[in-house]
Order: sequence, then C-alpha cells, then structure tokens
Amino acid sequence: RVEAKCPQARACGGCQLQFMNYEAQLAFKKNKVEANLRRIGGFDNFTIEKVIGMEDPWRYRNKAQFPFGKDKEGNIVTGFYAGRTHSIIPNRNCLLGVEVNEMILNEIISYMEENKVEPYDETTGKGLIRHVLIRYGFTTKEIMVCLIINGTSIPNAEALCRQLAKISGMTSITLNVNKKQTNVILGDEILPLWGKETITDYIGDIKYQISPLSFYQVNPVQTVKLYQTALEYARLDGNETVWDLYCGIGTIGLIASDKAKEVISVELNPDAVKDAIVNAKRNGIKNVRFYQNDAGVFMRQMADEGESADVVFMDPPRSGSDEKFLSSVVTLNPKRVVYVSCDPTTLARDLKYLTKHGYSAVTAVPVDMFPATEHVETVVLLSQ
Ligand code: SAH
Repeated sequence: RVEAKCPQARACGGCQLQFMNYEAQLAFKKNKVEANLRRIGGFDNFTIEKVIGMEDPWRYRNKAQFPFGKDKEGNIVTGFYAGRTHSIIPNRNCLLGVEVNEMILNEIISYMEENKVEPYDETTGKGLIRHVLIRYGFTTKEIMVCLIINGTSIPNAEALCRQLAKISGMTSITLNVNKKQTNVILGDEILPLWGKETITDYIGDIKYQISPLSFYQVNPVQTVKLYQTALEYARLDGNETVWDLYCGIGTIGLIASDKAKEVISVELNPDAVKDAIVNAKRNGIKNVRFYQNDAGVFMRQMADEGESADVVFMDPPRSGSDEKFLSSVVTLNPKRVVYVSCDPTTLARDLKYLTKHGYSAVTAVPVDMFPATEHVETVVLLSQ
C-alpha cells in the first residue's frame, strides 16, 4: 500500500489502484485475468504470462474527456466524475493525462467566464458546454481540442480559438454537437472551428490520421507492445489472408500488412473506416481492404460465401464479441485467432465458446494499458 500521488485519487472515480505500488497493481491484474478465465471460462489450469507493464506508469494517456459544471458557489469547474456519480471532482491536472491538458482547460474556463458561456446542466438539460475531448499525438506533438456542446455554435468562437491556437502543437479545434439528454459524451456531428479536423500520430513506423469520433488506443507506449505481441502470436509468413475485425482506424491490419498476402479489415464506425482508408493510402499500403459493417454480420456473410481466412485478429469493445461472429469464425476455420481484449469477463465468455468449438487457447498475456486503474488488456492466442 502506498500514498496516492494524486490528491484527488480517493474522491475521483478514475483511478482505483493508485493506493497500490505498481508491482502490486500488475499482480492484481494478472490475478484478475486468471480469476475470470477460471470462473467464467472454466479454464482450470491455464497459466498466463507475466503482465507487460510500463517503465513510467504516469501521464500515459493521449486522450482525455473532461466534463464542465458548476460548484456550490456557482464557479465553473472541470475535472472527473466521482465514482458511480455525475458530480464533478475538480481537477485540471490529472496525472494520467498529458501536462498540456491543464493549460487547455484553463483557457476554456477563462473563455467561458469572460463570455458568460454556461456549462451544461444534466438535470435541467440547459447550458451549452458539456465536455471537452483532448487528444495529443505523443510522436507528432499535435493537439486536438473538440468541445462537445448542447447547440450548434458557441459565442465569440474566435476568442477561444485565438487563445487555444497560442498553445504549441495546437492542430485541430472542432465542435461536436450533442443535444440529447444522455450520458453518452459524443454526438455524431463535427463542426470545424480552427485548423484541421484530424491530428496525425505514429505507432512504430506507421502514420495514423485520427478524427475526434474514431477509436484510437489511449496509451501509445503500451500500444506498441500490445501490437508487437499480437503480431508475434500471429506468426505470419507473408502468404496468409489475414482478417482484422473491429479494426478501428485500421491499426493492427496495417501493421500486419507487410507480413501478409492480404488483409481484410472490418469496423462499424464510419468515421474510423474513413480514417483507416486514408491511413492505408498515406502509408502506401495496398494489400488491405476495409469494410464498414457489423463484424458479426460481415463474418456470417463471408462464411456463407465460402471465403477463407488464415489468421484472424479480433479486438472487440468491452462488451466482447457475439455468437454470430464466433460461430462464423468457427466456420471460416482460420489456423490461428489472436484475440485482443479490454475486458477479461467477456474474453473468458468468448474463449469458452471458441474452445468448445475446435480451438485451444495456447497462451495469453495481459498488457497494462491503463496503470492506476483496474482495467487490463489481454492478448490471447488460439489455435486449431
Ligand atoms: N483494433 C483497433 C480498435 C479496437 S476498439 C485498435 O487497436 O485501435 C474496438 C472497435 O470496435 C471500435 O473501433 C468500435 O467502433 C468497433 N466496434 C464496436 N462494435 C462493433 C461491431 N459490432 N462490429 C464492428 N466493429 C465494432
């Protein structure tokens, strides 16, 4: 047990494990994955490898979303929701995020105060500014600021842009329209305010364009290790047809492309697919095809059409995969499946299905993408 580094750690809902030293956090995560595999998956003696941790487990996030609100005195505040609530614990200097976040938040709050712009109030549905999404390219140092608003414009936008543009690296300032009374942060519509609509970042040698609405891994240092592990597990020899399901902006498939004959990548989010296509072009990669579809529906179609797959990468959201998808994998019969999971409970459930239908889980390694939090990513190799 250690003293939490962040003075807000106890009240804030973001970090559950700051009170453990880092070694203990890694042990906790290994145990969490093993326990889920045992309890939900029924794998009694499946030993997993040591968690791949970080050298410096702070300030690792390239993305942050801060809500705006008011404190009891009526001052505009931003920070993070307290655990299981929507009351804001003021904090502009989260130790998991990059330092520049604080400067950006200060500018936005000054702008709101000077221009009498109200933060959104969840109970009344009134007020304009809901959240800000900030992204930072660790390699390129490009910054994206996207203000999520309960409207379609902000007053005196030029003043805000002028101040934000002074911050070194500022590349993209946009608005996102979300007029719904919901706790989903982002709406569908992006309105440009200043600069570009996207930022660029690298993972290894590959360059990625990232839109406000696309999924992009939040811990770039660990993402490299995550993808390396996934690639090692895939053991590609250059002749395979590889599928990258739940591909986001195309990352895993693009990295695998020079070790495969061809890659077929599938993603539901249309913005992410657009980014993925641009990413393939900008990196001169020609053997990857992208499809915008539900991964399960797509797999079922492909299985019915008699397509083939040698190696499947699958990286579903926390809710995991579904039976339509998994049963189609079984029909398509790839030699190896590399499952990248961000939730060990759904991972265990999905592995149970695949191991009942002709696959065996060969090896698994957790990767610590989210130090100080209870979350853990796991890469699993399944083989026929
Ligand atoms: N492999 C990518 C993205 C993983 S996150 C990376 O490493 O960056 C999971 C992705 O699955 C998200 O981009 C999300 O939009 C997508 N997704 C969620 N449900 C889906 C579905 N039913 N079919 C296809 N993609 C889906």
